[in-house]
Amino acid sequence: MTLKHKLKQIKEGKLSALKNVMNFSKEIATPKTKDLNIFLSLNEDAIEQAKKIDKRIKENKAGKLAGLCFAIKSNISAKGMETNCGSKVLEGYVSPYNATVVNKLLAEDAILLGMLNMDEFACGASGETSAFGPTKNPKNPELIPGGSSSGAAASVAAGLCDFSLGSDTGGSIRNPASHCGIVGLKPTYGAVSRYGLIDMAMSFDCIGPLTHSSEDAKLIFNVIKGQDNFDQTTKDTTKNKLSKKRAIGLVNVHDFCSKEITELIKTKTDEIAKKNNWKIKKINLPLDIAIQTYYIIVYTEFFSTTRKFDGRRFGKKIEETAGPEVIRRIIGGSEITKAEHEGKYYHEALKARNFIKQQFEKIFQEVDAIILPTVPKLPHKIGESIPIKDMYNYDLFTTPASIAGIPAISIPVGKIKEKDVGLQILAPHFQEELIFKLAKDFE
Ligand code: GLN
Repeated sequence: MTLKHKLKQIKEGKLSALKNVMNFSKEIATPKTKDLNIFLSLNEDAIEQAKKIDKRIKENKAGKLAGLCFAIKSNISAKGMETNCGSKVLEGYVSPYNATVVNKLLAEDAILLGMLNMDEFACGASGETSAFGPTKNPKNPELIPGGSSSGAAASVAAGLCDFSLGSDTGGSIRNPASHCGIVGLKPTYGAVSRYGLIDMAMSFDCIGPLTHSSEDAKLIFNVIKGQDNFDQTTKDTTKNKLSKKRAIGLVNVHDFCSKEITELIKTKTDEIAKKNNWKIKKINLPLDIAIQTYYIIVYTEFFSTTRKFDGRRFGKKIEETAGPEVIRRIIGGSEITKAEHEGKYYHEALKARNFIKQQFEKIFQEVDAIILPTVPKLPHKIGESIPIKDMYNYDLFTTPASIAGIPAISIPVGKIKEKDVGLQILAPHFQEELIFKLAKDFE
């Protein structure tokens, strides 16, 4: 059932907001669901909120999302709720205010169900680095759900909420959406306010929706987007026109990708292109430098943003409390930013970032949108030992859009060996409308 359909049922009185909350709460409380380790905490006010919303629905005063239930990654602030980023560093830290995205959803009468598990401080691609234990993939609990928005993807895939919000720095919405067989949108950088997001790397971080369909993603994106005085990087996005080239760029993934995934993406793209009359052009992205560029900047920004976790004001001292992936980035970031390395790593990475942006600009002169797999490999088993380099390479296909700040969606495209595979659609800045249109063609 699409969100529009559910909203209609609620409006017509066939389902109440209260019943919607109760249904999800029942599901969340089953032992089978608890074992998936998706929620970190629940909103105790949800039932009271639902009752008030039902009253407003009866009085015809309710908002656009009245009665829908959502959950958020636990790096997005919600007043009165523990916002711990999946880390013992912030265990017990209760947010004193709502993130702008939360305010926007509440203003439309959506109901917050709770906080979701995630890789510690959003550092990870598998959902295994949370200090509160790994999240399991609801489709197959032996497998990783992907990360770092592991709970955000798993909660939707397991039917524990109507939609969720995650954050994506280098793939953290798209990667778990792909492994859990759902839709995940990383909006244009600046399309959605980051106010209230505990940042991982602020020049990349984006908040976006995880949903069952692109139509649902569009509905939620249109509520959470927009200029916000609390985030100076935000812009209103309504004035952009669609281009009419009707050409799609299919990225040459070389041997960066498993053969079966490459084949599936190609077959599906050919099929949909034929049906919809698009031309397909083979294109090249600078995939060989994307990961290095991304991680040098991420280590630097992450090191900087975590200096406030010194144990005095917020929670515990990060160096003494966090897990190995977080520590690796702090040590790496402190090394890169040493005065004697001035210009060596960080400035080179910024140059590479510019180069990658320019490559996208060139490509978008020839094609409307770009297609490539979301993750180059199928999900591994939880606990399997994966070399750091391989783990970082999970984001090989998602980091380019993050580096350029352009929007990208991951949609389910089929299964290989009973494992979900996602396809990514990338478009120029603020062309989310085009992304939704193309995603719908694929669906
Ligand atoms: N897996 C990537 C990383 O660890 C992306 C994380 C994210 O998008 N938050 O940096």
